Amino acid sequence: MDKKRLDYYKKKLATRRDELVRGIARTEQEGREADEDPTVDLGDKAANSYTKEFLFGQTHNDRSLLALVDNALARIKDGTYGECNSCHEELQQKRLEAVPWTRYCITCQEKTEQGQL
Ligand SMILES: [Zn+2]
Repeated sequence: MDKKRLDYYKKKLATRRDELVRGIARTEQEGREADEDPTVDLGDKAANSYTKEFLFGQTHNDRSLLALVDNALARIKDGTYGECNSCHEELQQKRLEAVPWTRYCITCQEKTEQGQL
């Protein structure tokens, strides 16, 4: 992949990374505030734990995505970005445009989802 394209994806990934880091920090803060709220009565506590579970699920998703984004940035650094991790075919630009942190081409992605890889 030429340097211009690489820089383009790097910027895209870095922007996404910032968003994720900020989002995770905010969600964690909300979780803490829900914990410390002294006005919460017993009925609210149940709703509260539901909210916390929801927030936890959300950070979990964000963290998984963050790990993928970090991984992609590392691959830009070591020069393997833009090829499929499995078959080493070059990834389609269209695919990278939509999912810049992807590690697999569409064929291999389908195989991983079906547990064949
Ligand atoms: Zn592949």
